[in-house]
Amino acid sequence: MTALPVTSVRTTVLDLPIRRSHQFATHHIDHQSYLLVTVTTDGGPTGVGEGVSPGGPWWSGESIEGQQQIIDRYLAPALIGTDCLDTHRALATMDRIAFGNDFAKAAVETALIDAAARAWGVPAHVLIGGGATRDRLPVRWALSGAGTEVVQEAADRIAQGHRALKMKMGALPPDDDLRRLGLLVDKIGADVDYLADPNGVWDFRTAAWAIRELEAMGIGIVEQPLARADLAGMGALCTRATAIRILADETVCRPADALAAAAARACDAVSVKPGKAGGLLRAAQAAAIAGAAGLGCYGGTALETSLGTAAAAHLFAALPDLRLGCELIGPLLLTDDIVTDPVRYHDGDLLVPTGPGLGVDVDWDKVERYTRCAS
Ligand code: MN
Repeated sequence: MTALPVTSVRTTVLDLPIRRSHQFATHHIDHQSYLLVTVTTDGGPTGVGEGVSPGGPWWSGESIEGQQQIIDRYLAPALIGTDCLDTHRALATMDRIAFGNDFAKAAVETALIDAAARAWGVPAHVLIGGGATRDRLPVRWALSGAGTEVVQEAADRIAQGHRALKMKMGALPPDDDLRRLGLLVDKIGADVDYLADPNGVWDFRTAAWAIRELEAMGIGIVEQPLARADLAGMGALCTRATAIRILADETVCRPADALAAAAARACDAVSVKPGKAGGLLRAAQAAAIAGAAGLGCYGGTALETSLGTAAAAHLFAALPDLRLGCELIGPLLLTDDIVTDPVRYHDGDLLVPTGPGLGVDVDWDKVERYTRCAS
């Protein structure tokens, strides 16, 4: 294989509607924005990647608009002529130019890997992790942290084959949150694997109390009970907890965060996401560190379209251990998509795309329809 030099990196901001509003602990959305990154190559295939900022900059500090600026003004010019097949060098180039900006870098890296995998004629998971260890991923359905329709929505999703549910928390007072979840468990039953995620808004005493209550309710996992930097607090909760597992999300973004969390025994499992890790390869490294420390891995979501979902699915398919399943619900929450043939779900599982590259093709008419108008 000869080199596959980058000839252009282009970005487009898209706004897509979602089926119902989604309440996080401190933030609520009724549409979702994306940054489509398109990499053209000299005589080779075009690659695409997707920048995400779930619900806006509250989670990562990166906005879609900021990602576009950092890529257009700083990263793209430096990548012209870079070989798509040399992913680590491209990542090092981006690191030299900009600290952080991991979601933006991940979007570019995904496009490079898509182009490279298409040139090789292999699915992206071959380049990300040496091939797929599974061809379908069990999907946990995530319920909004506010609203009264959750029981019906959960029942519908269980009927469609989902076997695990997540409840967003933290928007309501803890007592009300627990009561709301208790009602759901009463109605849906104990055969489902439940997860509670307050996005780090509880203080230590609240979390310690809530974990006892969640355990009594039969909840299996609590995600990010404390603020992202509170490794000592997370570790103390792990020591106190008996049945429930502590899952780190905001606490573990890049590979070095996985190392710090493992050293502090701050969690039982790690949520892996390409965006927060700074790319697919770095997310695989974070997962490898977690695995080496005996921690489980969970395939998290940033509510991607089928494009970003396919990229994450290739990563999760390649991880040796994904014992907590995944949460790639983005395409099911959106009312439309930006690819010609959206990723497919069956019996509550996401089927890992099998075609070359990301295995999905951009629908350019849809891209045009959802492109944000210049204001
Ligand atoms: Mn989370």
